[in-house]
Amino acid sequence: MSKAKKTAYSVLAERRFNERVRVDALYDQLLRDEEYRALHCERVDLRAKMSSLGSQSENISDIRARYDEVVALIEKRMGELGVNKEDLETKYVCPICKDTGYVNGGECSCLKQLIYASLRENCGSLLTDESSFEEVDYSRFPSSHIDNYKLYYSILAKIAEKFPQNNSKILGVFGPVGVGKTYGISILANNLMKKGFSVLYLNSAEMNSLFLKYHLAKEAEKAEIWAPLVECDLLVLDDLGAEPTITNVTANYLNCILNERTESTTCFTSNLSPDQLRDKYGDRVFSRISHKKRSAIMVLKGKDLRLN
Ligand SMILES: [Zn+2]
Repeated sequence: MSKAKKTAYSVLAERRFNERVRVDALYDQLLRDEEYRALHCERVDLRAKMSSLGSQSENISDIRARYDEVVALIEKRMGELGVNKEDLETKYVCPICKDTGYVNGGECSCLKQLIYASLRENCGSLLTDESSFEEVDYSRFPSSHIDNYKLYYSILAKIAEKFPQNNSKILGVFGPVGVGKTYGISILANNLMKKGFSVLYLNSAEMNSLFLKYHLAKEAEKAEIWAPLVECDLLVLDDLGAEPTITNVTANYLNCILNERTESTTCFTSNLSPDQLRDKYGDRVFSRISHKKRSAIMVLKGKDLRLN
C-alpha cells in the first residue's frame, strides 16, 4: 500500500476514533448525573420487559406508557444538563461513507481527496492547483501561439491518460523563461496525483542540494534520502541546468537517477538548449534524456513550438 493511502486511512481512523470518544464522553457525563442515571436504568429495564412480554403477546400497554414517559423525562433531563439528543448521534465528516473511505465497494471521494492531499503535501511547490487539461484557459496565451500551446497540452494530456503505461518515460521540455513549460507540467502532476500517483517536484537547486546531501550522508542514511527520487511515480526536475555544477555530484547522480528510473516517468524543463544541456551534463546523461524510443523532447519557443 502506498504511503499516501496509509496516511489517508489513518486520517479516517482518527476521525472515527475521535467521534467515538466524543459520544462516549457525553454518555459518561450524563451517567454521572443521578437523575439521568436512574431514568436510563429504568428505560433499560422497561425495554427488556417489553421485549420479553411482547414475545408472549401479553398486554404491555402500561409498560409502554411508562416507557414513553421515561423517554420524555430523559430528554427533559438531558436538556437541563445542556445536552441535545442529536449530540449523542455519531456525526461523520463524510456522511456518504461514514468515514470508512468506501461506498458501494469503491473508494469514496473523501478517501481520494485525502490521498491527493497527502501526495500534494509531499510533492513540492507546483505553479498551479489546476489538474484538468480541458479547463486550461488559452486566452492567457498570445493569440498567435495558441495552436502551439494546444499541441503541448494535448501531448501532456495523452501522457496523463496513458500513465503509467505511457511509452515515453522521459519528457523534456525546452524553451526560454515564461513560455509556460512548468505550468503545463504542474497540471500533469496534479492530474496524476488526483488519480493516486505520487509525484515529486524539485527545481534544479533542490535537486542539486538533495544530491549533495546524499553524497555527504553517512552510508546508513543514504537509502532514505535516495528513496523518494526513485520511488515516486513521476519525478519532475524543473529548470534543469540552472543549478551550479558540483563536481562528482550533479551529473553523476542525475545519471544514476535516470538509470534507476527506466520503468517510471521523469519530466524535466530547461531554459538551456539541448546542446547546452549536453555540454553541462555530458554524453552519458544526454543520451538518456534524448533516447529516441524512450524519451519525448519538446522545444517550446512560444511562437515556434517544435516537437521531436
Ligand atoms: Zn467518504
